[in-house]
Parts: sequence; structure tokens; C-alpha cells
Amino acid sequence: MSSTPIDPAGFVAGHPGPLDAAEHIGPVAGAAVTAGALDTATAPRQARRRSWIKGTVVLPSDHVWKPQDGRLLEVRDLAVEFRMREGVARAINGVSFNLDQGETLAILGESGSGKSVTAQAIMGILDTPPGYVTAGQVRYCGTDLLTLAEKSRQKVRGAQIAMIFQDALSALNPVFSVGYQIAEMFRVHRGMNRHDAEAAAIRLMERVHIPGAKVRVKAYPHQFSGGMRQRIMIAMAIALNPAILIADEPTTALDVTVQAQIMDLLKELQHESGMGLILITHDLGVVADVADRIAVMYAGRLVETAPVGPVYAAPRHPYTQGLLESVPRLDTKRGGILPAIGGLPPNLLSMPAGCPFNPRCRYAIEVCRTGGPPELEAVTDTGYAACWRVNDQEVVAASDRIATAPRDEATLEVIA
Ligand code: ADP
Ligand code: MG
Repeated sequence: MSSTPIDPAGFVAGHPGPLDAAEHIGPVAGAAVTAGALDTATAPRQARRRSWIKGTVVLPSDHVWKPQDGRLLEVRDLAVEFRMREGVARAINGVSFNLDQGETLAILGESGSGKSVTAQAIMGILDTPPGYVTAGQVRYCGTDLLTLAEKSRQKVRGAQIAMIFQDALSALNPVFSVGYQIAEMFRVHRGMNRHDAEAAAIRLMERVHIPGAKVRVKAYPHQFSGGMRQRIMIAMAIALNPAILIADEPTTALDVTVQAQIMDLLKELQHESGMGLILITHDLGVVADVADRIAVMYAGRLVETAPVGPVYAAPRHPYTQGLLESVPRLDTKRGGILPAIGGLPPNLLSMPAGCPFNPRCRYAIEVCRTGGPPELEAVTDTGYAACWRVNDQEVVAASDRIATAPRDEATLEVIA
């Protein structure tokens, strides 16, 4: 078995080779479901069942989670599919990345690119059926969470890895006070009595800068603004001091000023606790000054990964280039129209042959249509891109053009 090459930035170079995943998914890797047969309805029932990674390992209740050399999370070659009447939608196709303590990874991509499903697979909260993890590993502090029995997995969820959901604003229960809902975390997980749990809830509300926490602990969700409700959701997520916080589009429903305040809060909490932060967003502008690294997803694959500076300075994948060109810059004429990436993301049930981005790519040539999906390859010391033409003159020149285009100050700061 070849070892997986890891780049200095922590991403996997190219395809991570054969995985030990085979140990727990058995012979299925080559079976009907992954062999390209879209219709699982006709696949033997046995094969379908075996192709779902379902863990059985029960950890001792006093298991200590300890990051190795600061490494919290290693996602390896993760694959998720949704088995539906209309066919199998391969929502995640071999996604690999790492997260270290104190690090912020931004996962960026259009709606439907697989960002939330990736997060759900890490958390173990995938909608099953129809969603199944069919390959890969999710190693937390060295232990593959996919091998754990649900009972052990539950102990990781919330306490070790917490998540703020995309629809956080509707996640609060309207009939209980926010204080009660935060305190419940401490009562259920820490066995605190009512009085201590409320005191802890107030401290937590102060930590996320909710003014007048002592009084407002008794208020109901509808008495808070959207930004304040999001702070409450963040408070509940960090209540048990998780080592990793996954924030799925935490600011999408908020206006721009409040977005910046929530981002600042997340950064501040991360700084205090040293937690690793996975920030999921479709908005390149939001993550520019908080992320350390960016992973760009397209149709369930990582298409570019690099530290945030290089991605902004000189993106190499034509998709990332398109995303960046649609962010306003200094030389954008007032009232001018920003170039958008034409077309729509592919339908997972009828993926284009070749590179999934080829129907929308201005550089697409024959190999892009026939060569299969390209794999990530190193384009700089720290950057990786998955594109058949990544070293071709035209694509490199486009990257250089973006690198030399005038930028606004915020972007320049990120590049510096
Ligand atoms: P996003 O990047 O916007 O967060 P998602 O990760 O939510 O995208 O979804 C990725 C793909 O997986 C989508 O194309 C969606 O159709 C599919 N998908 C997600 N959840 C389900 C589900 N419960 N049932 C069927 N398909 C799903
Ligand atoms: Mg989503």
C-alpha cells in the first residue's frame, strides 16, 4: 500500500492512494454501486448494504482525545452518495483535507457543491437513508470516527466536534427562554443543577458579547435580533469546549455589518480556545480575512486548496478564477457588471464526462471532456489544483492577470 503524500499545507497531493477504508467497507469498492451503475435498485441487496460504512468500535468511557502534533482532523478520500429512486447522486467524491489546532479552514463553493454534506459526514449526522458514506476516513485525533459505534460517536458530537447549522436562526425553540436552552447543554452533558447551569449560561452569553446577559437570559428567541440569535447558537456550540467548530454558512441570513461582527466573534473565540474552525461559505468576501486556508469545492470534489493569500493573489483553477473575478475590485467600473461564471453546476444524476467543470469552463479542450475528472496536483509549494490545463500557458496567464489586477485594500491585506 502506498503511503499518502501530504503537502506542507496539510492537503493531500493527488489521489490519496488505496485506503485502509477497504478494511471496513469490505469488497464493495469494486462492487455494483461504485462501478458506475447508477441504478442501485437493480444492484444485489447485499452489495448495497455492505457498501455503507457503519462503525462498531466502542471506546472506553474515559477515552482521552489528544491531537497528535497539533493535528485535529484528517479527512481522507471521503465519498458520500444519496441513493434515490431516480438514481445515485454522488454528492462527495474523494474529498481529503486536514485541520490543525487554532487553524481556520474555509470551505468555499456554490450552493449544492457538497459543503454541508461534508460537514454532516464528519459529524455523523448524515440523512440515512438516502445518504451513505461509501468510502474514506474521518480521523479525529488519530481515530477514524467512521469505525465508531453510534454510542461512541455521540460522545464526540458536541463535546469534541460541534457545529453551527446553516439554518441556525430557526433552530432555537420558540417556547423556551434562551437561557434555559443554553443551560440545558450543561444540565444534560455536565450534570449541573438548575442554578449552576443558569450561571454557566450567563457566563457563556457574556462570552459571546450579548449585552445585559443577566437579564436577557430569561428572554425568548423572538426578543433577539438575528445577529444576537446567531450569537446564542454560537454560545450553545462552544458550551462544551469543543476542539473543532464547524460553522455552516453562519452569516448567510445576516446583513453585512452583522456578518463581520459574527466573523470577529468566531475568530476571537478561536483565539481564546485554540479550537480548529471549519468555516463553510459560498461567499469569498466573508472568509478573506478570517481563513488560514481555503478549499474550493465543485460538484463534490476539491478543485483547489491553498493558504488564503495565494488563492486570492493568483488562483489557478479556472473555477476559482471565475469566483474571484465576480468579487468587486478597484478597476471595476462604477455601475459595471461583474463577470459571473456562466451556466449552472452539474446535476449529480447526470454528471458530464471528463472534468465536472468543463461545460462552464472557458479553457475546456478535448482532454477536459474525455480525460475523466482531474486530480489535485501541486501548482505551488503550498497550493493544489485539479485541472487538466493547470500548467497550460492560457490558464497560468489568467492567474497572472488576476495577480497583477488592482485590488481594494481588504484584498491587499489578505495577499500581503
Ligand atoms: P451545499 O454545498 O450547498 O452545502 P449540500 O452539501 O447541501 O450542498 O448538497 C450537496 C448535494 O447533495 C446536493 O446536490 C444535494 O442535492 C445532495 N443532497 C444533500 N442532501 C440530500 C438529501 N437529504 N437527499 C438527497 N440529496 C441530498
Ligand atoms: Mg449547505
